[in-house]
Amino acid sequence: MNSKTKRFWSRNKRFRLMLTLELAVMLPAAALIYLNFHHVKSIKRAKKVEASIHRDFQYMLADAEKNINDKIYAMIEEVRNILPDPDSDADEKARKLDLILSTHPWLAHMFLFDADKGLLFRSQPQRMSEKYFQHEHEWLSEMYSGWFGVEAKMLCDVMHKKPRPISCYTDPIKREGNDVVMTTAFFVLPQVPKDKVVLGGISFEPDYLNQTFFPENLEEMVAQKLTDESGYQLALSVFPSEREGEYAGNALATSAGWGDGKPEVSRNLDDVFRGLAMGIRFQGTSADAIASRWVQQSILILGVLSLLMIGGLVLTYRSVSKEMALARLKSDFVSNVSHELRTPLSLIQLYAETLELGRITTQEKKEEYYRIIRKESERLGKLISNILDFSRIEAGRKEYDLRETDIAELVRNTLDTYRYQIEKSGFEFETSIESNIPTMKLDREAIARALLNLVNNAIKYSADEKFLKVKLYRTNGTVKLEVVDRGIGIARRDQAKIFEKFYRTCDPLVHNTKGSGLGLSLVRHITHAHGGEVEVESSPGRGSKFTLSLPLTEEADREAYVIASGAGA
Ligand code: ADP
Repeated sequence: MNSKTKRFWSRNKRFRLMLTLELAVMLPAAALIYLNFHHVKSIKRAKKVEASIHRDFQYMLADAEKNINDKIYAMIEEVRNILPDPDSDADEKARKLDLILSTHPWLAHMFLFDADKGLLFRSQPQRMSEKYFQHEHEWLSEMYSGWFGVEAKMLCDVMHKKPRPISCYTDPIKREGNDVVMTTAFFVLPQVPKDKVVLGGISFEPDYLNQTFFPENLEEMVAQKLTDESGYQLALSVFPSEREGEYAGNALATSAGWGDGKPEVSRNLDDVFRGLAMGIRFQGTSADAIASRWVQQSILILGVLSLLMIGGLVLTYRSVSKEMALARLKSDFVSNVSHELRTPLSLIQLYAETLELGRITTQEKKEEYYRIIRKESERLGKLISNILDFSRIEAGRKEYDLRETDIAELVRNTLDTYRYQIEKSGFEFETSIESNIPTMKLDREAIARALLNLVNNAIKYSADEKFLKVKLYRTNGTVKLEVVDRGIGIARRDQAKIFEKFYRTCDPLVHNTKGSGLGLSLVRHITHAHGGEVEVESSPGRGSKFTLSLPLTEEADREAYVIASGAGA
């Protein structure tokens, strides 16, 4: 398979993988997110959050009304059970009623009506000195006496039919020119036979209801019962229900934190406190604001999820591409290496056999064959060393033997060994090795291998202009080893990648040249192990310059400076 078809298949494979990923993961996730967006929008449009809050509020208010009614009925029952016998003496009854009034300061007025004996109407004795209260007493006793005279029988009949023989009315009255509401309960007496027309009744003190009963109960309900599930604090109020329960800002009582807002939901009370309404709201916020916040939060979360999903796809795409590229490089590597091993081996075999057969007679020819065998075994050796080094590095077992070394001598010796070969293959070969370089701690073999890999690449990847220069010099606390060629060069986008394992560029010359893609990754590993860096400067068609920078210790650098300036003086 040629490289073009290989790349087509690998690209196709990647495409298939991405398609699967998109169909199996992205599409359902995107659909889910879209549906959620849609859902949130429709919830916002239909004001569903507000509606559900309001529904909950209605339940809470119904509960709250039942709660205060139960309490009021318990109070009424308490008094109803201790009323005096209607048949007892009139003074005795008045005395008893006064006693009940003074022991129950939450009562304003009490009365007993007997069709035979008329109305006995008593008011809170401590307050009878107040003028307006006296008026209230007179006016109410007159009104009830007139009313009961006409309707007591009917009232008794109605009450006997009810499961609880009590009727309550809450009516507005004037007190010293102020509007207040007064709650009055009428009832039949427990011990009186049904055929007798006897009625009892009590009026609650408006001040007690507004200042004590309502505030305490509202507070208690807010604290114990009515805390919204979402954790928002609630507030309750009781106010006269004007115009269909609309709130006119004139609450009779509120729980703490009501502020001066309107109720979120209100309910007209329709039993004991008919004529009043109860309102509920959030402390310091509204259902509208909560709904908007909820919508905002949902959209934000969905937005973040979408971004994460896109980010995830990009990352997956990149890592899949990387993995597939690596897999391709690995398979290229295997075929390259096998090829590289086979070629010198078959050459060695061929020439050795020819020599063995004794068919070669001239000494010159023999020497040429020996040289070819040596050269090919050297190439084989270098390749095997690279592969061994690489596998040690991969396994994390590569160790460097760092010893004080004269790097100038090392570079000179290494190059001298190959000088003849380099020049023989038509290269103009220049070396420039500074003499004032101090000894440094190096692994001789590793640095020589790095240099040879660079020199080998310069030779392999030079086409028309065969030029090679190796330069060793010291600068700014580092020793630099440069290998320069005027070969095919390396495109900018490949310059960082060529140091990765197995990586080879797409240049046709590179493809026609054998290689494993390991050389430069070894060079980089070796340089890093010496605390140095490797860099490349290159432009396609013009050549490349590889530079190894190896750091000098401070001491060695100082010494070298002294030597250099001494030599200069
Ligand atoms: P190999 O030479 O075995 O392919 P290397 O790791 O030594 O592997 O090099 C990696 C790649 O870098 C080469 O395949 C080639 O594409 C590019 N390269 C290395 N050195 C040079 C150079 N001097 N000039 C041009 N390209 C080079």
